[in-house]
Amino acid sequence: MSLNKRDQKHLWHPLTQHKMTKDHLAIKSAKGIYLYDEQGHKYIDAISSWYTCVYGHCHPQVVKKVTDQVSQLDQVVFAGFTHEPAVELSEKLMEILPSNQQKIFFSDNGSTTVDIAMKMSLQYHFNQGKKKLRIIAFENAFHGDTFGAMSVSGLDVYNGPFEDVVLNIDRISVPNDANLKDVINAFTAIVETDEVACFVFEPLVQGANCMRMHKAEHLDMLIEIAQKNDVICVADEVMTGFGKTGSIFAADELQNKPDIMCLSKALTAGMVPMGLTTCTQKIYDAFYADEIAKGFFHGHTYSANPITCAAAIASIELIQSDEIQQGIKMINQNHLIFADKLRNHSKVENIRVKGVILAIDLNISIDRYGKDRNVIFNYFMDKGIYLRPLGNTLYIVPPYIMQEEQLNFIYEEIFRYIYEA
Ligand SMILES: *Cc1c(COP(=O)(O)O)cnc(C)c1O
Repeated sequence: MSLNKRDQKHLWHPLTQHKMTKDHLAIKSAKGIYLYDEQGHKYIDAISSWYTCVYGHCHPQVVKKVTDQVSQLDQVVFAGFTHEPAVELSEKLMEILPSNQQKIFFSDNGSTTVDIAMKMSLQYHFNQGKKKLRIIAFENAFHGDTFGAMSVSGLDVYNGPFEDVVLNIDRISVPNDANLKDVINAFTAIVETDEVACFVFEPLVQGANCMRMHKAEHLDMLIEIAQKNDVICVADEVMTGFGKTGSIFAADELQNKPDIMCLSKALTAGMVPMGLTTCTQKIYDAFYADEIAKGFFHGHTYSANPITCAAAIASIELIQSDEIQQGIKMINQNHLIFADKLRNHSKVENIRVKGVILAIDLNISIDRYGKDRNVIFNYFMDKGIYLRPLGNTLYIVPPYIMQEEQLNFIYEEIFRYIYEA
């Protein structure tokens, strides 16, 4: 029986209407920037497998760290025990995180990091006897698929069945030059009620919202207002973290640093899943007490799994290396040149670049998960390029090890598609 037939028997894929999508391409292996299918065709992974494998697939340094760890210590309960990989990871993180981030809390994926950030914020105020229960988030945000993360997410794609059971969230527009004053006024009005626990946002780039971007100076204004009013600012850097915006974290480009940060995706170089919620000493101190109940009673079975810690340590060593930093710069420069070429094309509605992220809105209307979108997807797969268009938005987030030549090949194919389609 073919792999696809066997797949269809028992597997339920994410974000998939199975009646409309029967076949799933079987990928057999991956190395560097390439995915290889069963027939031996190769595809450039132009989105780093959802922004995870940013140093390329199966990077030798990550493979080595992980395999060394596998035979040393596989798993141990992190409530009550500790181990070298977790401690070393915390120390390494301190080298790259904004200096106000002092404490690290482990989980398994991006969604849980956001749930944890929300619970931490609520309990931070609760522990001080304050009733601050409201939460602010941007419109069209995406923070994940668990209940808390789904609640702060504003993208309403197919959330219908849950609409009446999610948390009630105060929504504000993402600021831009035109609406800045209104956004600040609306934000200030909510914050000054003294009922707000936290403000959750994707800093500088909203990934799932077609890579929409906003200015650091605008976000800085909102953070300043929030922090003046004892509202915890949560930067969800699950997508932006580890080099996507050019700096290691998007928060590096902000004057006002977030109180909590959420990390996942590229954190472990795409090798194994892990989530981290980091916070300031001030937040941690609100849980540090003689009363047990003031502690944070949240815990995942695989917290700080040593193998995932080893992968994260390797990832940090890579992002600190000259080679990777140069790769990020090279990709950004080439993106900017390509964007200039396409900017005034009649079929291009908007083109934007931030760090290694390039996004092109085409002048056509396409349903996010519809048939036309699959036509574009298949067009590029036939050329040997894996892209995952979001509606009419084409975007690339290449692995930082990509060479100029391979990058130019992707640009040329995008260029040809826009001219011919
Ligand atoms: C992907 C993503 C998440 C969710 O992460 P999962 O690991 O898929 O649960 C949360 N926030 C942002 C900004 C993301 O891009």
